[in-house]
Amino acid sequence: MPAVLNIPPPQASKSFGSAGNSPGATIDARQVDARQAAILSIEGLALQYGMMPLTLLRESCSPEAERLVRKLGRVPYVADPWLPVTTLGPLLVMAHHNPRAGDLWGVPPFLVIRVVISQEQYQNTRKDLVNRFGQMPISQSNAMEQLQPPRFDELGLEGSYNWLVENYPYDDAEKVKLAGFYEAQKSKGEKLEMANFNVMQRNLGIALQYLVSGSKQLVLSAAEAQRQTFFPLPLLERHVVYPLYIGRHVCFMLSATGDCYKFEDEWISMGNPAIKIVAVLADTATIRDAINRAGATFDPSAVASMDSASLSVADDANVVEISPEDMARVNPQNPAHGAEELVQWALFTAIRCRASDLHLEKFYNFTRFRARMDGTMKTIMTAPESQHNRFVALIKNWAGINQSRAECQDGRLALSIGRRRVDVRLAAVPTRREFQKLIMRFLDKQDGVKRLSDFNLSQRQIDILTRTMQRDQGLVLVTGPTGSGKTTTLYALLNSVNDEGVNIQTIEDPIEYEIEGINQTQTNNHRGLDFANGLRALLRADPDIILIGESRDAETAGAAVNASLTGHLVLTTLHANDSLRAVTRLLAMGVEKYLLADSLALSQAQRLARRLCNYCKQPVQVTQEIQELFAKQQVISQPVTTPIFQARGCDECHGTGYAGRVALMELCEVNSELRDLVEEAAPMSAMRAAAFKNGFKSLYQEGLTQVIGGATSLDEIKCLSYTGL
Ligand SMILES: [Zn+2]
Repeated sequence: MPAVLNIPPPQASKSFGSAGNSPGATIDARQVDARQAAILSIEGLALQYGMMPLTLLRESCSPEAERLVRKLGRVPYVADPWLPVTTLGPLLVMAHHNPRAGDLWGVPPFLVIRVVISQEQYQNTRKDLVNRFGQMPISQSNAMEQLQPPRFDELGLEGSYNWLVENYPYDDAEKVKLAGFYEAQKSKGEKLEMANFNVMQRNLGIALQYLVSGSKQLVLSAAEAQRQTFFPLPLLERHVVYPLYIGRHVCFMLSATGDCYKFEDEWISMGNPAIKIVAVLADTATIRDAINRAGATFDPSAVASMDSASLSVADDANVVEISPEDMARVNPQNPAHGAEELVQWALFTAIRCRASDLHLEKFYNFTRFRARMDGTMKTIMTAPESQHNRFVALIKNWAGINQSRAECQDGRLALSIGRRRVDVRLAAVPTRREFQKLIMRFLDKQDGVKRLSDFNLSQRQIDILTRTMQRDQGLVLVTGPTGSGKTTTLYALLNSVNDEGVNIQTIEDPIEYEIEGINQTQTNNHRGLDFANGLRALLRADPDIILIGESRDAETAGAAVNASLTGHLVLTTLHANDSLRAVTRLLAMGVEKYLLADSLALSQAQRLARRLCNYCKQPVQVTQEIQELFAKQQVISQPVTTPIFQARGCDECHGTGYAGRVALMELCEVNSELRDLVEEAAPMSAMRAAAFKNGFKSLYQEGLTQVIGGATSLDEIKCLSYTGL
């Protein structure tokens, strides 16, 4: 037998992985199952056995599920075991076409969520697994198999969590991280609820609820749900539900509360026939993501039924209505479309692809729209040069700025797309031969405010940020190039301390997210409200914490430092390459060094690295050379034994190998030694040495840590090596 077939133990005659070699056995099994399938559909089987039916989004095992099954399981003993497909927090989701199948790879049954899939998906997924475990075999036995569950129902959520921390094979790093978040959540109240645990780790609360229910509660993540056009999105949005599986007789519905009564009521009161609904508990965030994903399709039937009543439009912005239904009919290659339609299509497409910016520029003898997606520019439309000025005029007109081509201009507009509202910040820049380039930045209010727990931070980073945000005064600098996620971090920091007892005031340009409980002020050049005098006005409002959008001049920087010396915690952003250069930058701007030394609490620098696509990232062995690099950069104390990953490319990531991004944060906490050095305006090298002594990790070191953790690739962080040791 070839090497790939070493998964099954020799005693299994129809061994897992030998399907290709023994067609007789497989056909036999298929006939039996075909007969079974004729009697019962997937949904019928699922209902009968109290499981969920599922159409897998990908017919393979997710990397996270692979990691878990290697940890919790062993080789399967039969030819047709349950197949690990995905995860839910610490739980493994396993799939089969036959609910009565036995082998769970030795994973303790209470840590498994079972779903029913089609025969065909089962075969395809099985092929993928044979391949995976052929390349890197799984262990023959696992002590976890003997693990006996406690009475989770008596332990409750918190007790079950503590039991998991004790008994579940978490990595040390994970344990430390969970403990940190546990403390943070615990400090908010007496008893932790499901939502508190979901904050600590995605879906952890849901998983605990599953354990407490004695594996009876149906649970899953909405990330596993297919796109749907059956139910109107506003209805799903109102009730925070999303269909997981729409069958012939029953709909399995993901719900944040674990029931769907109110949804059902409204559905029926809309004049629809009653449907049988089985509720599946899922967390709010993944359900909202699923709804947003569904809203971003071209499917006109889904869009047509949206109502515009829920749309709120501020009256100070110029709103451009884009109809997704019309956009579905636009073909940018067709010369019959007018300029307005084409521009709308470019905007619509950029937003649908979750671009952060859209550029309109002349290029050789045509004009092009390029969108920035996950940090990389991609051309989404080109048109003849003659169209360029027409496009520019249209967009500037929407933003209400004049048609002069000689000056740099700023403007704003808002797009209303179906039920979505996206604000756009527009910059116009003159280029050669009286042409202009337009840069549009999308400020999507729907994406919401991130939590610190969304950032994949180390315990050291969490400790520093928590400690800093609990100070009663001091200056926090956040630096990084445009588009490095500074604002996202600042909002997450503010939100981490946003409660009744704290008065938070901001002065921003623009207000990118609106956060309840925080008093946000927008600068306004026409009324002479800039950062510096805005800050003066804010100080009269008795704030505890102040955010100044940007310290771009000496006056603002000076005022920020002063405020941070008089009983306020002040957060601001600054353009600088790294956290220590931010210090020298402020000194160069004319801030007194003894004032800065007294006030500075933390300087942070940030970059976004592209996150490897989870569907296709490829493990690579860590060579001796790379081990040495890790050691030299002091990110490991002993050789790495797990593989790192490189980009490959698949349909899910449009062939790029990457999807989404991961924030790298360099945190320089100011201790007394550094304070003295700032006061002396000591050279950079001396400050750097003191910082490293204090446990400082540079952007490159943080990047390497993310490489070892499997989030990104060595290639992706190469450009930061100048910050390394
Ligand atoms: Zn991919």
